Amino acid sequence: MDAEVTTKTDEQWKRELSPEQFRVLRKHGTERAGTSPLNGEKRDGKYVCAGCGQELFASDAKFESGTGWPSFWEPLPGAIETSTDRSFFSVRTEVHCGNCHGHLGHVFDDGPRPTGLRYCMNGVAMLFAREA
Ligand SMILES: [Zn+2]
Repeated sequence: MDAEVTTKTDEQWKRELSPEQFRVLRKHGTERAGTSPLNGEKRDGKYVCAGCGQELFASDAKFESGTGWPSFWEPLPGAIETSTDRSFFSVRTEVHCGNCHGHLGHVFDDGPRPTGLRYCMNGVAMLFAREA
């Protein structure tokens, strides 16, 4: 996708994102559990990166995890990248957008079948695009 996206400065991102989107996507923040309207989103569609519009997850991979964050058992192919996060005295796997590298959330290995993975996402880092 657009190579320009990854070279934006904090100032540019600040202009384009809401304060909460900026805090999560660019500063590795975490939204308060249960606050995202995407928790209850059950329609068919795609969840896209709020920073760059890249498609991240399909609605058929979403499940109710009970955590208060939108959760998925599988990302779209090539949509995300992961890295090791050693903050908060634990080792977690951080999930970020494969295009703009915006922070999305973490992935855990206690998800449902078939993958056994739980992609625990910040709803504010994503937008929902309803299937036409
Ligand atoms: Zn992105």
